[in-house]
Amino acid sequence: MNSFEQRPRDPQPTAHPADWEGPSAQGSEFADRLESETTLSADPIAAILDVIRRGERFLVCSHSRPDGDAVGSMLATGMLLEQMGKRADLVAADRIPAVYRNLPGADAIRNAMRVHGPYDAVIMLECDGLDRSRLRGLEPFFLINVDHHATGRAFGHLNWIDRGAASVGELVHRIVKAAGATVTPEMATCLYTTVLTDTGGFCYGATRASTFALAQELTLAGADPIRIAQEIYFSTPASKLLLLGAALSNLKREGRLAWLWITHQDMVRTCAAEEDCEGIVNYAIFIPGVEAAAFLRELPDRTVRLSLRSKGRVNVAEIAARLGGGGHENAAGVTLDGPLNRALGEILAELRQSVTVPRLETSDDGIG
Ligand code: 5GP
Ligand code: MN
Repeated sequence: MNSFEQRPRDPQPTAHPADWEGPSAQGSEFADRLESETTLSADPIAAILDVIRRGERFLVCSHSRPDGDAVGSMLATGMLLEQMGKRADLVAADRIPAVYRNLPGADAIRNAMRVHGPYDAVIMLECDGLDRSRLRGLEPFFLINVDHHATGRAFGHLNWIDRGAASVGELVHRIVKAAGATVTPEMATCLYTTVLTDTGGFCYGATRASTFALAQELTLAGADPIRIAQEIYFSTPASKLLLLGAALSNLKREGRLAWLWITHQDMVRTCAAEEDCEGIVNYAIFIPGVEAAAFLRELPDRTVRLSLRSKGRVNVAEIAARLGGGGHENAAGVTLDGPLNRALGEILAELRQSVTVPRLETSDDGIG
């Protein structure tokens, strides 16, 4: 399902001091001209390419705590822009997880909390709003929003939301093909990574025949599936295993629900990095008969990061969206207020309702 919409720019651009600044002066008359000239089109790819062809400098960004799709699709978009003779700045608010740092061009992604530069447009990948990037200073720019989340929203000036795509990288690949650009081995590696990681190794959600066709095409273009899988899945640091041990020792099951958590103290004790938390929730959803699973992580400021997974009919995107987050039907997330046992109570109440099954065990959530 495609949705393609345009909306007028927000009225009052704000001036910002630069934490990180593009090389020349601020502002762009181009964006204003573009806004008045761009007409509603039935073809989102053509409209996006039109904006790119008419501009010179672009900012490419994705969501905070970037995953494989965020990193791979940013890098591939940067490569496309370069092939089209444009300048692209790739910026992320959080550091790139170690497993993605060897992707071609990954060292060009800059870390910043605020952006400021003479961009003709900002290409936002995988975000349901400006906040999701955690980058400040995006408001004045012409925004191209490309997303595949169930909770995707048309917050940009050009919005292409295809909820059937296995990854945003798949959408970037379609733009690349439409532009007549070359899928180089480097670009293929980045795009393959988006598909591999967002489908959990071709296991989840949007994995369909066309996903394998795309994987084949990218492999023929030079992506090495074995090397990429090894970089991502066979590179587990000891800190992650220790953290997993702590999380598994907190595993609880109640009928069709399972959950596990770690405290900030667990993070400190195991010397774990934020990225070591990725995938821990899966151990709970792997249990046969479990339909919905939650992983909670206490942050240093006592807020709680929540990861939700489901299989079958439970729509965790809806639950996450109700709590202020978002995601896909079977994989979603949100940041909740602490403390940890309050957040756990909140999510368990939601999940118990969504599986609507009589509770088999005590109401004790297990946090002592
Ligand atoms: P994870 O649990 O792996 O962090 O995230 C699962 C899915 O939910 C991903 O597609 C991710 O983009 C989305 N997601 C996670 N946290 C948030 C959030 O706070 N807000 C929104 N909108 N989406 C989120
Ligand atoms: Mn994605």
